[in-house]
This record gives sequence, structure tokens and C-alpha cells, in this order.
Amino acid sequence: MSTLTDRVALVTGGTSGIGATSVETLDQAGAKVLFTGRRAEQGTALQDSLRAKGLEVTFYQADVSIPEQVTASVQATIDTYGGLDIAFNNAGIEGGMGPIQDQSLEDFDRVMNINVRGLWLSVQEEVRYMAEHGGGSIINTASVAGHIGLAGVSPYIASKHTVLGITKTVALETAPLGIRVNAVSPGGVHTEMLDRFTGGTEEGLNGLAAMHPIGRVGTPQEIADGVLYLTSDASSFMTGQSLVLDGGWTAQ
Ligand code: NAD
Repeated sequence: MSTLTDRVALVTGGTSGIGATSVETLDQAGAKVLFTGRRAEQGTALQDSLRAKGLEVTFYQADVSIPEQVTASVQATIDTYGGLDIAFNNAGIEGGMGPIQDQSLEDFDRVMNINVRGLWLSVQEEVRYMAEHGGGSIINTASVAGHIGLAGVSPYIASKHTVLGITKTVALETAPLGIRVNAVSPGGVHTEMLDRFTGGTEEGLNGLAAMHPIGRVGTPQEIADGVLYLTSDASSFMTGQSLVLDGGWTAQ
């Protein structure tokens, strides 16, 4: 039986990787899904291929770092499907790599602008609607990088620790309003981002895989299944938490 029948979901950063797989997974569970991203061609192609499979999905071009576009994408979800019950705030970038003395302020600002400011703005708009319309479930993509340090990516680490802080705080503010707010914290997951992170080489991938006690990185589907749990009533007593799906990385 579908767990999300008649629910409406918004997924940011849905044109590839974890977001794209989650769009399909939420739809297959019964939700109607509007997904956003900056890349119009890629988003439209994904929308068309999912619609050809019979899924009820819509792509809406929006950049989370532009406030007007965040507001417009929440409104587009409501206009297209009649409400907003689920929001998966997944858009994110990894930023540059290197020790802090070699990092640039421009890159720090770019990462924080998308991963923190864009997510905060998205949560704000979603809560404004959900608070007046019977509640909902919000999921923010954090990372193992929100739980532990990782040498060489201090802007990304700062951003993902902040995502967890926003998640906990807004969960406290909105629990009385019927809104649950949780995070999903993946370990390494094989996506375009991971290929950029590892340099796309087998050696790079094996090196990252070795950091996971399970001995491999995860798949986007393994994260999307966790997102489905967090969106559904199966997690109805859970708010302000992070679901860590990391092959045992942070248990070490
Ligand atoms: P990805 O690069 O395939 O996906 C990121 C998505 O966010 C893309 O669709 C991209 O276009 C979109 N995006 C980036 N900036 C945006 C903006 N300003 N506005 C709208 N959309 C924007 O990589 P992914 O691995 O699927 O990443 C998804 C999320 O998962 C990110 O938040 C990332 O930090 C997080 N994450 C990834 C891993 C991993 O190993 N892949 C691990 C932990 C957390």
C-alpha cells in the first residue's frame, strides 16, 4: 500500500543524484512531486522521462540562493498540486577542497549561500505555509559532515553542521504546529558530487569506500528510502533528529 497517497511534495536540487532518486521514490509511494534545480534542460528531461513512466512529477527551475525563486517554487507546488505536505530540502554543493589557509572567502560564501541560506529560506517558506495548513514533514539533507570533522572541506563542514542546528531549532518551534523537521545524513553516496569529490577515479572511490566499515559507498536509493521513512507517518514520533545512513562511518 502506498504510504504517501494524496500528499504533495517539494524536492529542491532534484535534477540529479539523491534528489532525483528521491523524486521517483516519493512519487512511487503515492505523492505528487514538484522538484527544482537550476539546470532547465536536465530537469525537463527528467520530468519527461518520469512522466513517460506514469509518474505525477513537475520540474520547476529555481535556484535556492535567490529568495524570490524559493518563494516562487513553494507557490508553484501549491498552485500545481493544491498544497504542500512534504518538503525535501536537498540542494547543495561541496565547495572547494584544501586546508583552511588555502580556502577562499568567496568559496566559503558560495557554499553557505546555497547549503545554509538557501535551505534556511526554503524551510522558512515551507513552514509559513504548513503552519496555516495542518502541518507537514520537512527533511533537510545534512551529511556525515554535519556530525564529524573532515580535513580539507571546512566550508562544507560548517554548512552541514549548521543544517543540523537549523533542523533541531525549527523542529522545536514547529512541533506544536504539527510540523516535523528532520535531517538525513548520508555518508559517501555515488552521485555526481561524489565523483567531483573523489576526482572520479577508481583510486579515489576506493579510498572513500574504505572509510565506511561496510566497505563501499552508498547508493542514492539507500538514501531515498530513508527520506521516504522520514516523510511518511512511519516516523510520526520523530522530529529534530538526523537519520544517519553512512555504512557505519560515524560509529568508529
Ligand atoms: P548532486 O550534485 O547530484 O546533487 C545536488 C543537487 O543540488 C543537484 O541537482 C544540483 O543541481 C542542485 N543544486 C546545487 N546548487 C543549487 C542551487 N543553488 N539551487 C538549486 N539546486 C541546486 O549530488 P548529491 O550527492 O545528490 O547531493 C545532494 C545532497 O546530498 C547535497 O546537499 C549534498 O551535500 C548531500 N550529500 C551528498 C553526499 C554524497 O556523498 N554524494 C554525502 C552527504 C551529503
